[in-house]
Amino acid sequence: MEFGWTSEQLALRRRCRELADDFAIRSADHDRDSSHPIENYDILRREGFLALNIPRELGGGGHRLLTHSLAFETLAQGCPATALAFNMHASVVMPLLDSDQVAPEAKRKIVDLVVGQNKMIGGNFSEPGTTSLIGERPLSVRAVPVPGGYKVSGRKMFASMIEAADFVMVLAYPEDSTSPHAGALLLIPRGAPGRSVAANWDVLGMRATRSDSLTLQDCFVPHENVLFRGDDMRKFRYENLNWFWASYTAVYLGVAVAAYDELRRTVKTRQPAGYAQPLAWHPDVRRHVAELSADLEAAQLITYRSAWLSDTEGATPEATTAMYRAKYVVGQACSRITRVALTLGGAHGIFKGSRLEQLFRDGALAEIQPPPSDFCLWSMGLHELGLDPAQALPPMRPA
Ligand SMILES: Cc1cc2nc3c(=O)[nH]c(=O)nc-3n(C[C@H](O)[C@H](O)[C@H](O)COP(=O)(O)OP(=O)(O)OC[C@H]3O[C@@H](n4cnc5c(N)ncnc54)[C@H](O)[C@@H]3O)c2cc1C
Repeated sequence: MEFGWTSEQLALRRRCRELADDFAIRSADHDRDSSHPIENYDILRREGFLALNIPRELGGGGHRLLTHSLAFETLAQGCPATALAFNMHASVVMPLLDSDQVAPEAKRKIVDLVVGQNKMIGGNFSEPGTTSLIGERPLSVRAVPVPGGYKVSGRKMFASMIEAADFVMVLAYPEDSTSPHAGALLLIPRGAPGRSVAANWDVLGMRATRSDSLTLQDCFVPHENVLFRGDDMRKFRYENLNWFWASYTAVYLGVAVAAYDELRRTVKTRQPAGYAQPLAWHPDVRRHVAELSADLEAAQLITYRSAWLSDTEGATPEATTAMYRAKYVVGQACSRITRVALTLGGAHGIFKGSRLEQLFRDGALAEIQPPPSDFCLWSMGLHELGLDPAQALPPMRPA
């Protein structure tokens, strides 16, 4: 693996750093109000970030997961929720463009919307009953064939930036299918008749992602908005886990970096009464910071390497396991760094509006964000021992 960044990657990181500094000014307000950071999305839109990963020959930036990770690690340092929600666009657009299962017309439509019209696309696969505990994702949202397309009904959940994006890509079960693993990816514009949002995203962290619930009631989706339909969505998902899942890892890495930086700033500036030196001189503080620096560098290197493996090898078992390992290590590092940063910040740091307090809450989601840490360990264990997942017993008694 090459450890140096190219001048292009460094220039992108510099620009992301400038944008992050600007996002940071408004981050606490959006967090408190749980409001969409629309102006941040507009800036990213203007700056060409919607097409960051689209191949260059199609008019995009052509950046793959490694460079994407560097960019989103940096953006997240300013406003974690902006980076997490905005990443949903690449997370759902790129699998469609990369997959050889997707028809050329669907790819052309995506490129036209994103490169030609600068449209932002969210994604909603999750439902109230979704869990990765049992390894299956039965879909309750149904797409019933009607003349000219489908009528879609049911309830989705956790739809980041749903009211800010121009479209949401929804995963539904095609009612005329016989396979239990079938699915269809449907593009539904904001304001489509039969589409409504329940604003229930009043949560602990990543509040400004506004990952509200989506309800569809006989919502008509014309054939031209059916981007993909398959009898076995598992293969499609597995082959594109780099975008579907791994692209989020860098966001939580950015949260860890931000907490580490804020901690260092805090202990270097806070000088307790009666002492001639700031807290940074306390040996225990120095030791904590030293430990966190090791956690952080390990998390960064494992993330970059797993993204590099994905870019160079594709969805090989090794690259996929490296992705789980990276998510696990970043989840642990982010939890620890944000927790220790809050602890060393003391009671001064626990007020609403404190950056350490916000990063602690955002960082608390790192291990929960799919793929959750436990799921990563489950997958890594099977791979490391060379075990066939199909031969493993279900973790719980099936209904
Ligand atoms: C900030 C945020 C934004 C999101 N945005 C979107 C979005 O835009 N679109 C969208 O579709 N979804 C989104 N999601 C939803 C996400 O995909 C949900 O996490 C998903 O629906 C699963 O829900 P869950 O975490 O409650 O469930 P579970 O998968 O049941 O996980 C709960 C816990 O169970 C344990 N666990 C799970 N699987 C295993 C396993 N195999 N082995 C051992 N233990 C396991 C873990 O401890 C895990 O943390 C978002 C989630 C978050 C946190």
